[in-house]
Formats: sequence, structure tokens, C-alpha cells
Amino acid sequence: MDFLLVEPDFPIPKKSRNHKNFLPIGLLKIGAYLKRRRHAQRVQLVRGNLDVNFTPDEIYITSLFTYWSEEFWESVEFYRDRFPEAEIRVGGIYVSLMFDDPRFKETCDRYRVKPRKGIFKSAEKYKADYSLIKTNPGPLDCQILHASRGCPRRCSFCGTWKVEPEISFKKSVRRLICNNKIVFYDNNLLANPSIKNILEELAKTRWKGKSMVCESQSGFDGRILEKNPHLGKLLRKARFVNPKIAWDTKYGNHPRIEKQVQILEDAGFAHKDIGIFMMFNWEIPYTKMEKKRVKCWNWRVQVDDCRFRPLDQLFDNFNSRKSQTREDYYIHPKWTDRQVKEFRRNVRRHNICVRHGFSFHSKTLENKKVSKRKSMELRDMSKSRVKRALPDAWFPDEEHPCPR
Ligand code: SF4
Repeated sequence: MDFLLVEPDFPIPKKSRNHKNFLPIGLLKIGAYLKRRRHAQRVQLVRGNLDVNFTPDEIYITSLFTYWSEEFWESVEFYRDRFPEAEIRVGGIYVSLMFDDPRFKETCDRYRVKPRKGIFKSAEKYKADYSLIKTNPGPLDCQILHASRGCPRRCSFCGTWKVEPEISFKKSVRRLICNNKIVFYDNNLLANPSIKNILEELAKTRWKGKSMVCESQSGFDGRILEKNPHLGKLLRKARFVNPKIAWDTKYGNHPRIEKQVQILEDAGFAHKDIGIFMMFNWEIPYTKMEKKRVKCWNWRVQVDDCRFRPLDQLFDNFNSRKSQTREDYYIHPKWTDRQVKEFRRNVRRHNICVRHGFSFHSKTLENKKVSKRKSMELRDMSKSRVKRALPDAWFPDEEHPCPR
């Protein structure tokens, strides 16, 4: 049998990719499963809507966020039109979240596609087949691994526990390693009961004679870190880089977040490499988010801002360069478009200051509109003198008001 695997052409911003290659990990595992268990003669993976030179018997189309459903349905329509006889199976985040929605079911029936909720269990145990990727700009720069699926927590804004309701953990990942850089796609890596063993084996394992570098796409669960501070040192020994923790709770929880940051610093991570995930455009209003950001500045850590979108949001035409309304993208009732954009700008300037050790940010200096000597002089001046000399100077240690 011949199989076609499709990742629709989602508008993933370049800066959101932590690797330069196209890596639809779920489809790569399905590809491995089809080759081993379904005796596939041909398995081809494509990105977007392309004319392929064979007639597939089965087509697997993946989905991502609900607000990228348009790209998903465009692919469904395209391949159904090209291959009226093929069996089309669809899965992924959007499909899992909308699985029980009557209108979604109706559309699936109209296109004669079979939806699947949650992960494809038969494929999950297979090592992703990276040989299916033919179109990347360079050699594979990392490997994606899951040491677990699902998450034992139930945060109201998160779809993980709906998409992956069954939790499963691997005891070891050693045999799965095939690259010197590993990016873990686990939602809650530290919740794995075997995490100590996994981190110890990562510290010892070598690939092609070289040790590895690891990164976690999601933040580490700070509450687990607080209860098990030794995990900080094990993460460091396993050569994790850019550790992140989440702070989605109220401002008053800052003593706990500070403790979690301290555990990472005590383990040897530089404060400027630590990131705090903070959701904005959500229940916590702009003024409180600014207070949280200033706390992060006091700890000299970066902020990873996540703009909230409801799990059933079907569009997102956010554009940071122009003024917009609720017709364009989701704006929480406690926020305005102006505040959403101002907070993003504040976070960007904050992170530049943390990374470079600057006490202020200025667009004039960033765009090199003053000489290097003058710029050095300004960096050594007192705050009041800088404010007089540079009208656009922005100080990360201040809360910046933004009217609604
Ligand atoms: S801890 Fe993270 S992954 Fe788990 S439910 Fe909360 S937000 Fe989702």
C-alpha cells in the first residue's frame, strides 16, 4: 500500500521554531509505524498542498491549533479533490479538541475523513523516522523526543489534558537517541516518575563520541522543582540549556517563583539564560503583568510571553505593527489591543536588557543612530541624565503604565 503524510502549510512564525528544520514529529512516528506494521511500499511526507506523482491508498493529515483550522481544511479539501478514492485520516490538536463538536463531525462526514482523538497509540512506541524528511534546508539539527505524554495537572487554559487525557511515561530514552541535540516535547517532563534515571542517563550518553545538549520546549514544573531541588543539578548535568519555568499565577506568588529561579541558579544556570513563561491577554490585567515583569527584572531573568487564545478560537490575524480590534484576533475583556502590544514591546525590551546586561533600552541606540563613543558614555550615566539625553530611553526596573 502507498501512504501520504501531510502537514498543512501552517503560518508558524520563524522565530517560534527552535530548530530550522521541518519536523512534524507525530507524522514521523506514524511513518515509522506504517513501514514496520502496514508493510508500506511507499510512504511520502509533504508540507502543504502539493501534487504528488503517485496515488496514495491512505492519507494522514495532521492539525495544530484551532486558529489554524483554515489551513487544515484547505489541505483536506485539496487532497480529497485530488484523491477521491483514498482513505483520509486526520488527527492532532485541533481535531482532538473539536472531536465531539457536531459541526466539526458534519464537515468530516462531508469530506469523508476519519478523525482521531488524542495520540495515535500504535505509532507512539516507534522512533520517529527522520529519513522521511527530504525537503529540509540542511542536515538535521536536532532530534525531538517525548519521554512522556499528557500531564497530571489540569490548568484551565491548557488543552494538553483534553488532547492527551491518558498519561504515559517512558522509563528510559537512551535507545531512542540519534542526535547530539535533543529537544524534549514533553508537556511536563519533570512529572515523569523516572525523571531522575532519564536525566542521569542523558548525562552519561554520548552520540558519535560526543556528549549531548538538551532543551525542553515547555517550561519545567516549578512546583516539582521546589519539592525536588536536586533535579536542578541533574538538569544541569544532563546539559539542558535555556531552562524555563511558568508563572501563570497571581503576582503574590512571587516568593515561590523566586525560590524556583534560585534552585536553577544554584544548579549552575546563568540567570540571563533562565526564562519565565507568562501568559498575558488573560485574567491577570496589564498593570499586574507589569509588576510580574519587573520582578523578573529584579531576578535578571528573561520573560517568555505567551498570548492567550481560547481553545476554540478559530481565527488569529494578530499583527504587531498595526492597531486592531476583536474582529482580528482574540482580546481578553480585561485587556485592550493597545495593552497587548505594549506588553509585548516591554517584554522584548526587557529581554534585550537582560541578555546584554543593559540598565535601559533605547531604539535610538539599537538602531545605531548615535556614535559608539556616545553610546558608551550614555551607558555609564545616571538614570536621570539618560532620561534627559535620550527621550526614548526605556527602563526595565519601572512599571510602564498603558491606558486602556
Ligand atoms: S502544567 Fe502545563 S501542560 Fe500541565 S495542564 Fe498545566 S499548563 Fe498544561
